[in-house]
Amino acid sequence: MKKIIKNGLIVTASDTYRGDLLIENGVIASIGQQFDETNCEVIDAKGHYIFPGGIDPHTHLDMPFGGTITKDDFETGTIAAAFGGTTTVIDFCLTNKGEPLKNAIKTWHEKAKSKASIDYSFHLMIGEMTDAVLDELPTVIDEEGITSFKVFMAYKNVLQADDETLFRTLVAAKDLGALVMVHAENGDVIDYLTKQALEQGNTDPIYHALTRPPEIEGEATGRASQFTGLANSQLYVVHVSCAQAVEEIAKARKQGINVWGETCPQYLALDQTYLEKPNFEGAKYVWSPPLREKWHQDALWNALRNGDLQTLGSDQCSFDFEGQKELGRGDFTKIPNGGPMIEDRLTILFSEGVKKGRITLNQFVDITSTRIAKLFGLHPKKGTISVGADADLIIFDPNVERTISVKTHHMAVDYNAFEGMNVTGEPISVLCRGEFVVKDKKYVGKQGYGQYLKRAKYNSTLENERNKQVTI
Ligand SMILES: [Zn+2]
Repeated sequence: MKKIIKNGLIVTASDTYRGDLLIENGVIASIGQQFDETNCEVIDAKGHYIFPGGIDPHTHLDMPFGGTITKDDFETGTIAAAFGGTTTVIDFCLTNKGEPLKNAIKTWHEKAKSKASIDYSFHLMIGEMTDAVLDELPTVIDEEGITSFKVFMAYKNVLQADDETLFRTLVAAKDLGALVMVHAENGDVIDYLTKQALEQGNTDPIYHALTRPPEIEGEATGRASQFTGLANSQLYVVHVSCAQAVEEIAKARKQGINVWGETCPQYLALDQTYLEKPNFEGAKYVWSPPLREKWHQDALWNALRNGDLQTLGSDQCSFDFEGQKELGRGDFTKIPNGGPMIEDRLTILFSEGVKKGRITLNQFVDITSTRIAKLFGLHPKKGTISVGADADLIIFDPNVERTISVKTHHMAVDYNAFEGMNVTGEPISVLCRGEFVVKDKKYVGKQGYGQYLKRAKYNSTLENERNKQVTI
């Protein structure tokens, strides 16, 4: 059945205007006014914004970590995402050294298929750059549509890749049309500082932050950025948490290097003092990079405003406090790294960003959806409201006030990192390809509805944009 969403205020990355949307066969068939309503389901969005569905470029659903596994999988994770206004997630497919990449991708397809309520895609982790891996990459790109690779510069002896692997990945990505993503922290220095802390009997959660100072995030970000310039490649720095890393990205961009930066809601709204909460509660706030001193928040907001950072990912990686975070009692290195963030990503940016005058409404859409779709080869099918685009839409109430709490969230974990925080704004209804996933704040979606998205190559996305500008 056709749908008409009328009387809403349509907001894209560039425009804000009154208009009605006609939805047919899962896509936006027309944008206009006073459509014929015969045989249509009509949704009145008066007083609400209509945003393109959020795209979360950074999730870890159903992921093993340090002897345990993330609490949210593709079932609970994508439902919680939808409640928060996200209609597409790009999850990290982990690989094992010495094993074919296709095995890892198959495992991830099995995790997601028949569980996801919204659309999804994968990034691929690169742990080593051997000839076998290099041989397999064209297939990964052409057949699987996986056009972004993640390299870890941290987690020594576990996930960490050496500089040669990072550099070779950048070179390969340049040739193949892929975007390299990097976790930028200096794992060797962290390893030394961590050993030292434990030797001195410093085992509390706060030492997780103190052994990963912002200088080593800045250093790794600068190193990866300059490698990118040398390889004439392209880089996306995930979860930027501090001023030092922002400075390195800004410097590289000024040099004309293709570096992009993502930050996360936790770095914008929480700070290092949370790790000092009593009764081991600080463990709830342990992730990498760690929360920083509060002044770094200003640097991140400024960077979102002036364009030095371009996107917001959730880095969703949830573990229960009870039974999972508690594995690290008496030894902070055994606390599983990560937090539940998939649901509150848009709300935090809207409430703390738009409502407080730090970014504009159009920047909000760009940062949570449009820019991500463009960088990761999903645009213009995803990430905007235009004729022919998928009808991935949020009907958003900009004025409702509420308090974030574990009691009302939809993630599977036993705590919310933003517990008790008062926020303004909330998605009322969310559609993915024209079908309601959330309607009037109730889940009405279907597990297994979510489709796997093959993505375009990095370069072709930008080329398409350029060509469009020339021909129109
Ligand atoms: Zn992550």
